[in-house]
Amino acid sequence: MKESLGGTGLVLNDPLLWEKGRKGRCGFSLPRRDVESAPLSPELTGEGPDFPDLSEVDVVRHYTRLSQWNFGVDTGMYPLGSCTMKYNPKANEKYASLPGFTGAHPLMPDILSQGALRIMFELKQYLTEITGMDATTLQPAAGAHGELTGMLLIHAYHKKKGAPRSKIIVPDTAHGTNPASAALCGYRPVPVSSNEQGILSARAVAKVMDEDTAGIMITNPNTLGLFEENSREIAEIIHAKGGLVYCDGANMNAVMGVVNMGNMGVDVMQLNLHKTFSTPHGGGGPGSGPVCVKKHLEPFLPVPRVVEENGTYGLAEDYPESIGKIQAFHGAFGVMIKAYSYIRIMGPKNLKKASQLAVLNANYIKERLKGTLHLPYDRPCMHECVFSDKHQTAQKITTMDMAKRLMDYGFHPPTVYFPLVVRGAIMVEPTETESKEDLDQFIDAFKAIVNEAREDPDLLHDAPRNCKVKRLDETTAARKPCLAG
Ligand SMILES: *Cc1c(COP(=O)(O)O)cnc(C)c1O
Repeated sequence: MKESLGGTGLVLNDPLLWEKGRKGRCGFSLPRRDVESAPLSPELTGEGPDFPDLSEVDVVRHYTRLSQWNFGVDTGMYPLGSCTMKYNPKANEKYASLPGFTGAHPLMPDILSQGALRIMFELKQYLTEITGMDATTLQPAAGAHGELTGMLLIHAYHKKKGAPRSKIIVPDTAHGTNPASAALCGYRPVPVSSNEQGILSARAVAKVMDEDTAGIMITNPNTLGLFEENSREIAEIIHAKGGLVYCDGANMNAVMGVVNMGNMGVDVMQLNLHKTFSTPHGGGGPGSGPVCVKKHLEPFLPVPRVVEENGTYGLAEDYPESIGKIQAFHGAFGVMIKAYSYIRIMGPKNLKKASQLAVLNANYIKERLKGTLHLPYDRPCMHECVFSDKHQTAQKITTMDMAKRLMDYGFHPPTVYFPLVVRGAIMVEPTETESKEDLDQFIDAFKAIVNEAREDPDLLHDAPRNCKVKRLDETTAARKPCLAG
């Protein structure tokens, strides 16, 4: 392999500002006083906060160094499966920071907010068209919040029919948020296993579907990166018993402009703007999880809704069957502008091409690594592929060891140990924005690591070696976070 990306080079240590500070050091200078000095008022003379004394360069270096300890899509490939960490085009940021948008306030009257309302109205139309559904709400704040909204819509639908139901079918490959959202809405999740091909069979679903089941939550493509080929037949089974089909659309990046979800029997689905539509994600910004529905669920959508009449946009509240409000004001407006910008810049042809390239990139990695890593489902994948550590067990090397070692080579690790149906899963989602050269470098790094596993396993047991921190106690970090530094 050519030179590895990883290295410790000029990634420099830096102490806490409190350790760095020295009494009397100062980061500013004031002009000479030209008035008489006067004592501070009594309420200002008490003990001040314990801020360290620092020079300007101390502070600039401190925060610049901290920023260099970070990793993001602007630093390198971030193949975190199921998360679609695609590049965030800078044009999106430019449009979202236009003063007319940043200065907008949700309490301004409609007539002074025509541009903002128009963006929301048109974005709803675009998302409705992309999914092949009939109507959309932009309110949910994330994918999981969209799932909960979808469950509330399904609940409202059954309640109106006079027969609320108690269960929801959830496949074993589902993201953990699926059963959680169903349960939060009061439903009991009923598990169903995927078959030996990694997808749902119509027979397995028919076995658990009954008249007390409100519907199914199906992720398509699923979290193994495989297309649920039987989903139309499954939808027929669910519909025949009066249930509804919820599609977790977090993986829509594989099928934009290719699959019409509405035609596949989906009644309601969420999109993750922070995944598929290129808005920043994780530490980089808030999310947005619009929900798209077919006609029969439209009356239940949240309020207020953005409407248009004779070219004028406004907000309407008068929908008596609505599930009500699920978010402060109208949702994450800044995120909507970025997704709108992305969709307008790309256009239908390029959105489709993005999906095609995402699928091509994942299949390229799958084909080139399948001799190196165990591939549990050896068939064409969609936007991500799932390997396992089965071939490394003889060397006592685990998925975690390889993921940690990948950081020494300069890559963010893939998603690990998910989905749960694959033991020691390594889930790689390259997205469409990686070039062939970048994919090759990632593949070469993985091959080098698998070689190390055979020849010098300690390199992996001790990994990461070049990072600022070594193996963290992730459980304690999550349970007892130390946020003070
Ligand atoms: C990311 C993801 C979710 C949850 O979305 P958030 O925006 O993180 O709440 C749900 N399902 C799948 C398959 C996902 O990948």
